[in-house]
Order: sequence, then C-alpha cells, then structure tokens
Amino acid sequence: MPLDFLKRKNGDASPSTTQSAGRPTTNAQAVSLPEEVVAQEFQLKLYYAGKSSEGVRMTAGPNALNELPSMLHGLAKNEIEVVDPLPIEFSQATPVMARPSEAMQWLNAHHVHSPVTRHALVVLESIDAVDLAFDTFVCALLDGEVDTSGYPEYNAIVGGVSAHWDEATGDMICRAVVGWGGKGVRGDTDRIGTKLLGGILSNILASQYALGLTPIERPVPAAGRGGLVCAHCGFASAHERAFYCPKCGMRLLRG
Ligand SMILES: [Zn+2]
Repeated sequence: MPLDFLKRKNGDASPSTTQSAGRPTTNAQAVSLPEEVVAQEFQLKLYYAGKSSEGVRMTAGPNALNELPSMLHGLAKNEIEVVDPLPIEFSQATPVMARPSEAMQWLNAHHVHSPVTRHALVVLESIDAVDLAFDTFVCALLDGEVDTSGYPEYNAIVGGVSAHWDEATGDMICRAVVGWGGKGVRGDTDRIGTKLLGGILSNILASQYALGLTPIERPVPAAGRGGLVCAHCGFASAHERAFYCPKCGMRLLRG
C-alpha cells in the first residue's frame, strides 16, 4: 500500500522526486550533506532543591500527631495541609509522567491536595527529602508567591514538618523540611530556606511533646514484614518494613 503522505504534493516536483511510489530514483543527483549540521537547540533546566533538619523525638501518641499542623503557625502563608502516609494500593506512586502506572497512582493519591502541596510533593519526593511510604507530611507555602492557578513560583518556598515513627522505639520523630524549584533558581532562595528551616525546627522543639534532637534514621528494610494491616486503625501500609503503623503509630501485630 503506497504511503501517500510521504509523496510530495503536485507542483512540487524536483529531480529527486520519485515518479512511482516505493521506487527509488535512478537520478543520482543526491542531496549532498552540508559540512556542518545547523541544529536548533532545545533545552529545559529544572532545578529542585530542599533542606531537612535534624529530627526531634516526640513522646509517642496521637496527641503529638494532632499537634503537627500547629507547628507551622506563624510561618504558613496559606492553608496548612496534612498528607498521610500512602496505603499499599499507592505503593508505586511516583511523580514521573513518563511512567504512566506510577504517575496514575500518584495522581490518584494526591489530586485531592492543593496546588501548593502537590508542588511540594513533586519537589520533595523528586529529591528524596520526603518518603510517603512512612512519612506524615504537614505542608504549606512558606515564602514567595503562587501563580494565577495557585501553583508556587520557582522561587517560592514550600514545606513544613515531616514525621515518622522510629522503628526501634515507636517514638514519633519530627523534622523540618523545606523545598523549592522549577524553571529557574534565584540566589537568595537558599538563604531564606535555611532561615525557614530554623523557624520550623524551633516550633517543633517548642512543642510540649518534644524530648530533644535526635539523628534521623529512616526505617530500614526487614524482609518478610510487609503486607501488614494495622489492627488499630485498619491502615494497610505501603511500607514493607514497618514495625509501627505509619498512620497511627501503633505497633503492628503479626498475624
Ligand atoms: Zn494504624
């Protein structure tokens, strides 16, 4: 079957045009290759950055969890949103468009959130500063502006408090997290980000549940502990190695 769209239009005949489809020309007036290829350049530079503080150990319990949003009081420039750890059906969620299955999971998990929170998650998950397999993330716009659709500008700073349950003790560990980025970077953003990180950290330390600074140890893999459903809140964790329910912090019972 001839591919008509490959043929030149009538009236655009040139020596190299074939007379019958699919048959190469015998006229050897080949188009010569230029000595230098003239290329049109395309480029997109995305810049994502963020900072995470030391951890603060909190006395365990749901009260500490409820107190997380108040740690952003005085710093948040818009509404404070809480992002819970992801359940097992979203365990592959990744904000990468070229991976449709992972991207769909991510959208299904996060389309309910505000543009600020979604932007924060894209930035902070892309640079691995937040892991919703075990983190509870409390988020707001902290500095800068949003566009007319409500999405933060590249130099706006987003972030808040990230909390997870320490696998060794069951204590809640909180840390300050900030991030920014997009199509550009500005010189003073890093400095403002550091200042905001300090502000959040002092808010965390001011909590009545705070016990003091502690190094961050992410929950480590332990094979064969996955697929547990929390007997206390019914949450099915996406995190395959949790001793403690990422959502309510209670010890997971092994069936
Ligand atoms: Zn639970």
